[in-house]
Amino acid sequence: MKKTSKIRRAKMLAQGGRCYYCDLPMWEHEAEKVGWPDLWTNEKPKTLQCTAEHLVPRSDGGVDTPENIVAACWFCNTTRHKRKQVRSPQEHRAHVKKRMRKGRWLQASINL
Ligand SMILES: [Zn+2]
Repeated sequence: MKKTSKIRRAKMLAQGGRCYYCDLPMWEHEAEKVGWPDLWTNEKPKTLQCTAEHLVPRSDGGVDTPENIVAACWFCNTTRHKRKQVRSPQEHRAHVKKRMRKGRWLQASINL
C-alpha cells in the first residue's frame, strides 16, 4: 500500500470516518479490512469517496507526511484545488460550512 494511502486511512479512522471539511461520512474501497463498517452498502456516491488531502498542496511543495495530510471527501478536495488561488484549509472549511448552511454544498445531491 502506498504511503499516502496508509496516512489517509489512519486519518480517516482518527476523524471518525468524516470529511475534514464538510464532516459528512466518507467511504473507501477496502474499509472492512481496517474494521471500518461499510456504511454504504448500496450506492457509494463518488463525491464522498475518501481522499488524501494535502493541506499544503503538492504544487506548492507540500509533502506526504501525516502532518500535511488529512482525510477529505473527493468533492471538498477537488473543489479546493480547482481554484487558481487555493484557499487555506481554514478558509476552505469556512467556505464549505457556509455553503452547507445555505443547502448549497453536496448534501443536496445525496441521501444521508
Ligand atoms: Zn467533504
